[in-house]
Amino acid sequence: MPEGVAVEEREIGRRTGEGSGPTVIVVAGIHGNEPAGVHAARRLFAQLAGLPFRGELVVYAGNLGGLRKGLRYLSKDLNRVWTDQHLSALREGTARDAEDLEQLDLQGAIQEAQARARGPVVLIDLHSTSAAGIPFMLTGDTLPHRRFIRAFPIPVVLGLEEELDGVLSAHWARRGLITAAIEGGQHDDPATIGSLEAVLWVTLAQAGSVNQSLDSVSRATALLDLQRNGLPRIMEILSRRAIAPEDQFRMEPGFRNIDYARKGQLLARDRRGEIRAASDGLVIMPLYQGLGGDGYFWGRAVSSASLRASGMLRRSGAARLLGLLPGVARISAGKFSLARRQWLGLFRLLGYRRIRESGELLTVERNQS
Ligand SMILES: [Zn+2]
Repeated sequence: MPEGVAVEEREIGRRTGEGSGPTVIVVAGIHGNEPAGVHAARRLFAQLAGLPFRGELVVYAGNLGGLRKGLRYLSKDLNRVWTDQHLSALREGTARDAEDLEQLDLQGAIQEAQARARGPVVLIDLHSTSAAGIPFMLTGDTLPHRRFIRAFPIPVVLGLEEELDGVLSAHWARRGLITAAIEGGQHDDPATIGSLEAVLWVTLAQAGSVNQSLDSVSRATALLDLQRNGLPRIMEILSRRAIAPEDQFRMEPGFRNIDYARKGQLLARDRRGEIRAASDGLVIMPLYQGLGGDGYFWGRAVSSASLRASGMLRRSGAARLLGLLPGVARISAGKFSLARRQWLGLFRLLGYRRIRESGELLTVERNQS
């Protein structure tokens, strides 16, 4: 039997400072088998006592029932249900299982924190992984998010959020919050708690809740920088290897959570044979155990030149002209259909990260910023 963690109630802790300031909302353990975030938050609160603080920090348990039992979830994954469709069904009173009730409760708690806010609101979702790996961050690709992530010396993956349906952090990003999901390392590795705590210190400093000059902040930054171990700071997702059970997909052993791959390297096998890298690039979140619809994500490092170009393009208003490109049709604000893949690179630069194939056409969509 997996062992759970003792969590009294949804709210794990709250610190309110003098005067106004940012609100930092942290969700820990939205997957009940990932208690490291809960421990990291408790350590953080203990250390914050007596330090000057601005605004509010509040930490919520994600899947309370799952955390107590040490199970990822009881009926369904609480981090795949944050769609408008599912939330409106819940509002109409069709909550059916343990996670529906968890979601309503957590949503209410986050909304209350948002209503109390007297400054910018940041939401950080803390995770850990079954495989060993260094801490990394997933975030949406908007200009405010890009500004926020600059302080973090861990690899940041842009555009993965938009690829996954029903993810908590993407949902609240669509509601105007700065959000990020953190993978802190392996579930049972004690170092994971330290890494998640370090991420929280950098978050508080970057949001403006605590002074940048605190020793805890410099120590946290140095720890995360060391752990990055030569991997790029910012990378982007280019494609997702979608898999179904009948594919008999098996990842080649030996890949880290984020790892380099060379052109031609064997990545995985399925019933059709070998899957090899079509170019040099990065394997991101390879699937080694359990079920899932994502075999791995394929990505590449984003250079600072490309980051600058993309920022300039977005501020220039060039997006208004996208509908004039041959083979491109505007569906609605922030959503286009593409008859040809050749424009994908341009759309990515402009923050269109959600890419879906429908028949012959591709549809691309971005989060509002
Ligand atoms: Zn998780």
